[in-house]
Amino acid sequence: MNADQFRTAAHAAIEEIIQYNTSVATGTLPVLPAIKPGYLRPQLPSHAPNNPEPWSSIQPDIAKSIIPGLTHWQSPNFMAFFPACTTYPSILGEMYSSAFTAPAFNWLCSPACTELETIVLDWLADALHLPGGFRSDSPNGGGGVIQGSASEAIVTVMVAARERYLNRRADARGLANPSPEREKWIAEMRPRLVALSSDQAHSSTAKGAIIAGTYHRMVETTWEEDLAVQPGALERTIKKCIEDGLEPYYITLSYGTTSTCAQDPLHLLAPVLEKYPDIWIHIDAAYAGTALICPEYANVDVDPSTSNNGTNDTIPIPNGMPPNTQPPASDTSLLSQPSLSNPHGALPAGPQTWSAADSFNTNLHKWLLTSFDASLLYIKSRSDLTSALSITPAYLQNKHTDSGLVTDYRDWQIPLGRRFRALKIWFVVRSYGVEGLRGHIRRTVRVGGVFEGLVRDTREGRELFEVVGRPAFGLVCFRVRPGAIPRELVGVGDGSAVEEPEEGVETENGIEGSPFGTVEQQEHGKGNEQSGTKDKKAQSTPAETAE
Ligand code: PLP
Repeated sequence: MNADQFRTAAHAAIEEIIQYNTSVATGTLPVLPAIKPGYLRPQLPSHAPNNPEPWSSIQPDIAKSIIPGLTHWQSPNFMAFFPACTTYPSILGEMYSSAFTAPAFNWLCSPACTELETIVLDWLADALHLPGGFRSDSPNGGGGVIQGSASEAIVTVMVAARERYLNRRADARGLANPSPEREKWIAEMRPRLVALSSDQAHSSTAKGAIIAGTYHRMVETTWEEDLAVQPGALERTIKKCIEDGLEPYYITLSYGTTSTCAQDPLHLLAPVLEKYPDIWIHIDAAYAGTALICPEYANVDVDPSTSNNGTNDTIPIPNGMPPNTQPPASDTSLLSQPSLSNPHGALPAGPQTWSAADSFNTNLHKWLLTSFDASLLYIKSRSDLTSALSITPAYLQNKHTDSGLVTDYRDWQIPLGRRFRALKIWFVVRSYGVEGLRGHIRRTVRVGGVFEGLVRDTREGRELFEVVGRPAFGLVCFRVRPGAIPRELVGVGDGSAVEEPEEGVETENGIEGSPFGTVEQQEHGKGNEQSGTKDKKAQSTPAETAE
């Protein structure tokens, strides 16, 4: 493909992307694809093509074979898992990143990649009201790095925590570094280490412990305490591990668990953890962390001159949720309205509360209008990462690295090569501004409040559902009220999310009509009732709304 062919192909692709986003934004496409497992193989040749194909024969397969097999995460009717918003500025960032492809592992590999990442992560450390120690210019030598996923961030800090723990212990025993004795002692100690998290923490901590080659023990939580870790339970778990001959070296505290958005209260747990100063404290805020961009969540004073104070939704979000999202007029009494003094279900967080944390992660690709992947990882002492992960063979040596004046992000992560992800974040932050991003968080939290109000509405004939646990941020967990469904109907509808196409209308794609839905589907929103999810995180709309 030469430049002229690229121009034609890229214009056609962009038009199709815009058409796709517009269709998804209207909610007219069913969220789940109406296909069966294995749908794709019969549609594609059994071997890779021997001869080149023109773009004009490649592109139609997007509409014919790919879109029919997509689950539309950008649909306003997608209510599973978590919001995974993308926006046009973010898509543009991915385009440039792809065009500049540079696996920029060292500063020298592409200085702009490294330097923009450091600057943008410092911007966000401030915007998210994180402790100052996470900035790259902090006296303690902190900093942020973009990882591909929260799981990757977590396993990376677990390895750093493991090495820090073992080396501190080896130093305390006076074992020379390096020495065969030290190496042997560390190798024998390593399998005794135990990572901790609550029984509600995301499975990435358990997986991280497997990869780090250590034990993993869970601190029990209870419904009475909103499924958050309590100081007594934490201390009992640590003591039991020690009694069992294990050495606690790391803990994940969640700021927003996957199931219920529970928040482990570091301000209450710190006195326990202070007794075990070698335990690395990591805060996993994969979903809820981006809410810290709003001062009311970060527990810092709101400056009325710089904040829209949560009440002004007129700041335009070019492709986001329409402003002034309100419940239906008749239902305004049901609005559970989070406010600056009552942020929705949030526990204290922010700079004062989290100064004890060694590291923190949040996913911009969940709630902050950035395409997958963009996981921010902040660390209080970057030397903990680099001393655990830095290996510099001859082919990676260069005078800039030797000078110590540059950052080589390869030493802050597991892979060597890395994508230019800072670009899309830069574009998003500049396109919306911090105030625009706050507006987006507040609007979506308010949608959660509206939804909660509707679920709690027990007026006659509406007693089918009940809220479970404490709603937090944009998440409202709910269930069918026990006994509300006649026994004979229980189970009806299970597994029906992937519907069989109606007989006689099956096309070669396995779905009815065009990939964007038939005109009738678009007009009547057919299929929108399919999602059948148990819980709902308030969803941002996709890259374009139907405004
Ligand atoms: N931590 C929490 C609290 C999550 O909710 C999730 C995913 O939903 C993860 C970690 C893992 O995220 P990732 O897919 O970025 O690894």
